[in-house]
Amino acid sequence: MRAIVDQDTCIGCGVCPSVCPEVFKMEGEKAVAHVDEVPEDLQDSARQAASQCPVSAIRMES
Ligand code: SF4
Repeated sequence: MRAIVDQDTCIGCGVCPSVCPEVFKMEGEKAVAHVDEVPEDLQDSARQAASQCPVSAIRMES
């Protein structure tokens, strides 16, 4: 599974890296996923980060 942050939609609130820093980090004023494949044991955490994004900028792709 991959996590993709829509750079046009992200408002840089910082929620996703605080919920799941193993997958998301801030790069300048936007968040990015810093792993290509989200490891099995981090998928729940990554999904939780995505669901807490206030602007639904995070897409999970299998
Ligand atoms: S939670 Fe959403 S808006 Fe906030 S930094 Fe992450 S992707 Fe951007």
